[in-house]
Amino acid sequence: MPKIIKTTCPYCGVGCGILAELDKEGSVSITGDPQHPANFGRLCSKGAALGDTLNMEGRLLFPEVEGKTESWDVALNTVTDRLQNIIIEHGPDSVAFYVSGQLLTEDYYVANKLMKGFIGSANIDTNSRLCMSSAVAGQKRAFGSDTVPCNYEDLERAKLVILTGSNTAWCHPVLFQRIKKAKIDNPDMMVVVIDPRKTATVEIADIHLPIKSGTDHILFNGLLVYLKNANERNELFVDHFTEGLDAAMEMAESHAASSEEVAAQCDLTLDEVEKFYRLFARTERVVTVYSQGINQWSYGTDRVNSIINCHLYTGRIGRPGMGPFSITGQPNAMGGREVGGLANQLAAHMDIHNEDHRSLVKTFWDSPSIPEQEGLKAVDLFDAMDSGKIKAVWIMATNPAVSMPDSNKVKRALDKCEFVVVSDCMRNTDTTRFANVLLPAQTWGERDGTVTNSERRISRQRPFLPAPGQAKADWWIMSEVAKRLGYTEHFSYSKPADIFKEHAALSGYENNVVEGNNKLRDFDISGLQYLSYTDYDDFNPIQWPVSKEAPEGTPRLFSNGYFYTENSKARFIAVNNSSEAQALSEKYPLRLNTGRIRDQWHTMTRTGMSARLSGHIYEPFIQIHPADAATLALNDNELAKVSSELAYIVCRVAVSDSQRQGNVFIPMHWNDEFASCAVVDSLVNTTVDPFSGQPEFKATPVNVKSYQAKWYGFLLSRRKLNIEQASYWTVSRGEGLWRYEIAGDQVPSDWAECARTLLCQHADTVEWTEYFDSAVNRYRAARIENGRLESCIFIGPDFSLPERDWLLKLFNDNHLKEMDRNSVLTGKPVSAEKDSGKVVCACFNVGINTLIDTIKSKEITSPEQVGELLRAGTNCGSCLPEIKEIINLNSSI
Ligand code: SF4
Repeated sequence: MPKIIKTTCPYCGVGCGILAELDKEGSVSITGDPQHPANFGRLCSKGAALGDTLNMEGRLLFPEVEGKTESWDVALNTVTDRLQNIIIEHGPDSVAFYVSGQLLTEDYYVANKLMKGFIGSANIDTNSRLCMSSAVAGQKRAFGSDTVPCNYEDLERAKLVILTGSNTAWCHPVLFQRIKKAKIDNPDMMVVVIDPRKTATVEIADIHLPIKSGTDHILFNGLLVYLKNANERNELFVDHFTEGLDAAMEMAESHAASSEEVAAQCDLTLDEVEKFYRLFARTERVVTVYSQGINQWSYGTDRVNSIINCHLYTGRIGRPGMGPFSITGQPNAMGGREVGGLANQLAAHMDIHNEDHRSLVKTFWDSPSIPEQEGLKAVDLFDAMDSGKIKAVWIMATNPAVSMPDSNKVKRALDKCEFVVVSDCMRNTDTTRFANVLLPAQTWGERDGTVTNSERRISRQRPFLPAPGQAKADWWIMSEVAKRLGYTEHFSYSKPADIFKEHAALSGYENNVVEGNNKLRDFDISGLQYLSYTDYDDFNPIQWPVSKEAPEGTPRLFSNGYFYTENSKARFIAVNNSSEAQALSEKYPLRLNTGRIRDQWHTMTRTGMSARLSGHIYEPFIQIHPADAATLALNDNELAKVSSELAYIVCRVAVSDSQRQGNVFIPMHWNDEFASCAVVDSLVNTTVDPFSGQPEFKATPVNVKSYQAKWYGFLLSRRKLNIEQASYWTVSRGEGLWRYEIAGDQVPSDWAECARTLLCQHADTVEWTEYFDSAVNRYRAARIENGRLESCIFIGPDFSLPERDWLLKLFNDNHLKEMDRNSVLTGKPVSAEKDSGKVVCACFNVGINTLIDTIKSKEITSPEQVGELLRAGTNCGSCLPEIKEIINLNSSI
C-alpha cells in the first residue's frame, strides 16, 4: 500500500493542504488534499510541481566551518564560542538573527526566545518585514492588534470582492480559483481589480481600475468621503465601536473631496471612479483583499489604513462575507508574527514597548532579561552591519543578498561582517558565499512542525522523507547553541510538539477574558497547550483563537464589535495624500515595480530546479508599455540595461500594453545563481515606511536603454556550465538539461575553440559537429555522446536564432534518429513537425504554438474547449487567463 502523508505547501500564504503519496520505490506523487479547508484539493502550478523539487541537487548536506566540512559538534561549538565572545566584547546588540517566513512556527519560536529572552537583544527580524509588515502596522493602528478578521469562505460569501495591490491569479492562485468558482456559482457577485497593470487577475474583473501606481490610498480616501455624502455611515457601529472618524474624514476631504479630484489624482475616468464607489456603497457584503502592492511603499501602512477606514465606516467587518483582508506572501508569515519574529514584537502578539508584556514573557520563559527597546528592522539591521555595529549575524532560510533592497550594499555588509552563520538547505546561494559557518537545515518533506496561513489557520507540515546527509531541524540547531550558551533547561525540547505546546501555553498565559467577552490579547491558542504527541501528529487545520471559550477555533474576529485597543474601540486613522519617496527625473523617468511571476518562488532555490516551472518564463524580463518602448527605441525581445541611482541589471524586453505608460515591471526572482546580472533588488532604494519599516519595492525611478551585444545565442547542455565567455547569461532548467541564453560584448577570435573549451575538453573523444559562417559570424555546434545529444550551441549576430523547443525535445531521446542528427545544426526538424513554442500550460507541457494552431484550426472560443482537446488548463488552472488571452487575440485577428 502506498503511504499517504498529509502536509502543507511551503510556498505562498494560501497554505494549501497537500497529500504526499510514497510508493514502494520511494517516488513521491503530490496532489491537493481534498479535505484541507484552504484549497479543498486544488493546487496551483507551483504546488503541483513540488514533487519535481525533491531531489538532492545542490543540497547542503554537512556543516562547514570556513569552507571545510566539520562535525555538528565542531560547527555548533564554533557558533557558540564566536557569538559568546562577540557578546562579551561588544554587548548583546552586536549580534543579530535574520530569519524567514519559510521557517516553521516551532523554529521561529525558538529563534525569538533565544534572541529576545536569553541573548538579551531584540535584533531579530525576518524577511516578512519586506512582505507584509505594513499590513501588521496598519492592523495594529486600527484594531490594537495584528488581527486578520476574515477567512477564505468570506471571499465566497461576499457580493463584492475588491482585489487591490494583488495579482491574485499568479501570487495566490488557489484563492483566485476559489473566487472565480464563487463568481460562476453566484453570477451576482462582482469583482473589482485595482491595479496599474492589466495582470492575469483582470480575467475575472467586472471592473478593472488601471490606477496610477501609488494612489490607491487616495481612491480609498475618496471612497470614505463618498460614503459620507451617500449617507452610508453605519451609525450604530461607528458610534459604539470606533473613534477618530472626524480627523480621518477631515484629512480625506482635504485632498479627495470629490470623485473628480480623485479621478484626476488616480488618473482614472470619473465614470470608473463613480462606478466603483456606487458599487461599494450599495453592496453590504464586501471583502477588500490586499497584498504586497499595497504594503510595499514608503507609506504602505497609511495605504492599509485607508482601506480599513472604509470598512469601519460601513461596519463591514466581523460578519460573514465582509472585511479588509490582508493576504500574506509567505507560507508562515503569520506564524512568524505569532511568535514575535519581528524586531518590534514580543512573543504571542505581545508588545515589546509594554512593560507588563515584557514582565509576563520574562516570567514565563524564566529568562534573565527581555530587551526594553525594539531591535533593528531588516534594512536598519543590514545598515548596522555595514557600519560595523552588528558584528555577527545568523541568517536562516532566506537569501537577503538577493531579496533586500540595495542588495549590493547588503552583500558588502555581509562581506564586512565579522561572523556570518547561514542555516540553509542549499549549498550555493547568493548569501551562503558570505558564510563563515554553514549549517545544513532540513527542508520541505523532511521538516516537522506547523505553519499558519493568511486566514489564521494553523496546519501541519509533516515529514515524509528522511533528512539527507546531516541536515537537521532549525529548532534543534538553535536549541543546541542555546544549551551550549548555558540555557539547557530552557531549551530541552525533544520534539517540535514540545515547542508548540509551550508556544500555545504562552499565548494563554494571563490572557484573561475582558470586555465584550474578548480575551486581553487576540492571539490565544491555549486550547492546544495540552496536546499529546499523538494529538500533535494527528492535528487537523484550525483557525486561531483556539481556547477554552472557542475549542473549535474561530472563523472570524470582531463579530462582537470589540477590538484590542485600550478602550476596545477600533481607530480610524487619518491618511494623507503621500507619494513616492523618490521623484522621477529626466535621468530616471520610469517607475519600476517589482513582483512575482506565476511559476517561480522567491529566489528560485527550489522552483528553479523544476523544468516544468522553468518553461513558462525562463529569463528575467522588463515589461514596458509600447509607447515607452517606442520613445526609448526598444524592441520586443532584445536586451535592455535597466539602471537606477544604485546599480544596473540586464534583462529581456517584453513590450506589452498590459503595462501602464511610465511604469515598468521586473520580476523579483532572478539572482546570481541563475543570471549574470539580474538582481532587481540591487536597483531598489532603502527608503522604508516610518511605521512598519517596510521598503518601497514598487516605485524605484529607473532608466532603460537598449543593450547591444556583439553576438547573441543559446546553449543547451546536460551539464551545468560556467559560461565565462558571455557578458550576459541566464540559465534555466529543462528536462534533463540546462538552458542558457547568452550574449557577448567581445567576439572570440576562434568560435570553434571557444565552443570546444566550453562543451568538450577532449573534442577528439566525442562526436562533434559544427558549422561556421564567418561572413555573418554565425556559429553552431553540437556534441553527441553515445548516440545522445549532450549539448549544442547556437550563436548569431542578432536575435534571429532557431526556436529552442524542438532541440529541447531531442534531449529526451536516448539515441538520436539519423534524420534528427542530420538536422540538429539547422535547429529544426526535417519533417513537417512544428515547434510547440514557449510553454503556457506547465502541468501538461503545452506550448504557445500548439495552442494558437489548435485554436485557429478548430475555431475554438473557450478555454474549456482547449482543455478538452489539449488538456491545457485542466489541472491547476494557473494558465487559464493566458489561454483566454490567446483565444481573445485569435478572435480579434
Ligand atoms: S496557491 Fe499554490 S503556492 Fe500557494 S499554497 Fe496553494 S499550491 Fe502552494
